[in-house]
Amino acid sequence: MIQPVNGKFDMPSLPYGAADLAPVLSQETILVHYGKHLQTYVNNLNAALPGSAFEGMSLEEIVKAADGGVFNNAGQMLNHAMYFLQFAPPKTGNVPTGKIDDLLTRDFGSFEKFQEEFQTKGAGLFGSGWVWLSIDILGKLVITQECNAQNPITKGLTPLLTFDVWEHAYYIDYRNRRPDYLKSLWSIVNWDVVNARLG
Ligand code: MN
Repeated sequence: MIQPVNGKFDMPSLPYGAADLAPVLSQETILVHYGKHLQTYVNNLNAALPGSAFEGMSLEEIVKAADGGVFNNAGQMLNHAMYFLQFAPPKTGNVPTGKIDDLLTRDFGSFEKFQEEFQTKGAGLFGSGWVWLSIDILGKLVITQECNAQNPITKGLTPLLTFDVWEHAYYIDYRNRRPDYLKSLWSIVNWDVVNARLG
């Protein structure tokens, strides 16, 4: 749970330097996407909190309870916090480890089949949004497409991994080539973080 401190949400701290995800995500992309887009969502959310019904709630509680502008900014803060915190510097041959590896094989047949479906759903989402891997209340993995600021927690799912498919996530490094961006991200996924989200 992400909690406010003295009535405000802080920017999530990156566990790597701004240049450390290159060439998958360039320093320029991190400075704009994290430093400008995410900062704006956090600022807008913080500006809306004083005197509202959402004061003192965790970010996840706000996403589940809010609508309109508060929902959009809280949802985008949560989505981007999960996105940026799940990465690590590029590794060749980066594959899932531990429990998530077992679950991906069980529910999709193999990691490669999961990747293919995840990329297809990310590439096929019309407009702005996110592709997510979540686990449902029965313990089954599920891939969902979420538009705009939506997050799977509003459907009772526990989100594990997400790729941002808003154009601002890839346009500097990949221009219009969203499928190439999605394919490149696998080398920077930190599967330890994904495993920790399984709880
Ligand atoms: Mn984004």
